[in-house]
Amino acid sequence: MAPGHCTLYVVPSCVSPPPYCRCVRRASTGVHRYCIKPGGRTFLAMAVTEVAPSVYAVRGQYYEEMGYLTSYVVAGAEGVAVVDPGLHNDPGPAIVDAIREVGYEPAEDVRFILCTHGHPDHVGGVAQVKSVTSATVMVHERDAMLLSDPASFKSRLRTGLLEQVGLYLSKGPFSVRFPSVVPDGTLEDQALINLGDMRLTVIHTGGHSAGHCVFYEEEAGILLAGDEVVGFPNRPELFYFDLSGSIPARLEALDELSKLDVEYLLPAHDVAWLGDKARLALEQASDALLAFEDAVLNHVVARKHASTEQVVHDIRESGSVPHPTCLECLLPTTVEVSLHFLKMAGLVTHDLDGVWSPISGDGDFSQLY
Ligand SMILES: [Zn+2]
Repeated sequence: MAPGHCTLYVVPSCVSPPPYCRCVRRASTGVHRYCIKPGGRTFLAMAVTEVAPSVYAVRGQYYEEMGYLTSYVVAGAEGVAVVDPGLHNDPGPAIVDAIREVGYEPAEDVRFILCTHGHPDHVGGVAQVKSVTSATVMVHERDAMLLSDPASFKSRLRTGLLEQVGLYLSKGPFSVRFPSVVPDGTLEDQALINLGDMRLTVIHTGGHSAGHCVFYEEEAGILLAGDEVVGFPNRPELFYFDLSGSIPARLEALDELSKLDVEYLLPAHDVAWLGDKARLALEQASDALLAFEDAVLNHVVARKHASTEQVVHDIRESGSVPHPTCLECLLPTTVEVSLHFLKMAGLVTHDLDGVWSPISGDGDFSQLY
């Protein structure tokens, strides 16, 4: 469990006597170098970035528009949780090094591997981290299949055959070529992941993908947000949904999350958003989503009858709303989810030939979330 008080290295500025002082030694040198108070305040510089009290960011490599995948190590008095282990080998071994760096033994102390959702860039590294720990792998049941059968991810995207082959061959963030894992447990809404002084509440959001969850640590106001709030670096207005995702669920989630006291918003593809900036990100994400719905509806109205592909074409040509360009199928997938939302709202119809048509009248999709 958490390391005991360091008796070999006295940190003059440490005012917390044992057992509150948790001195951390660097495994490679055996030198006791760091001292951390509960709540994560460090008294000496650390090699791993502590982005919120007792939460450490381990960043993977950069994938252009997607940015990087950040895995988080949450270190409590009663063990460690790894949130989103990333892709296979990225950040991979760096996560294990980071766990040691902050003074824990991966084999003994890592209790949970928590997946915000089942997309390959978040769960490709699960098997690797699990192999050196005795952790319980947890994901929401709606995304569990994406871990046990990675190739099933292709059914979550509106792709052509070539793109499906690409997902398999790619070494990028959407590669489905990673070792499968059968999750040990399922994340339930409002369940508590108890690490002693760090207690994470599971909040099932289900917007970005049907099984998406975020983790909230109430005492310090930490929100581990996965891809639900900010999905791309520094751009809360950029997002995508997979086909299992839900626009009303995401709007409702953003609304609920904005009522929480969030001081540290920790997304999976961006740096931490702190204080007022965190609240702004939640607002911007919500506004951007409604603007996207408006744009999709306007394109259908302008054409009178439109296929999903025609709406996608019009968004690309007009630049009416910002959208990710890194993977060709993300926009058609998101537009498809959006059109189904507009249909639920009674604003468009969908015929058997796949043609979308506007319904005249004053529809209002704000009633749906
Ligand atoms: Zn995702």
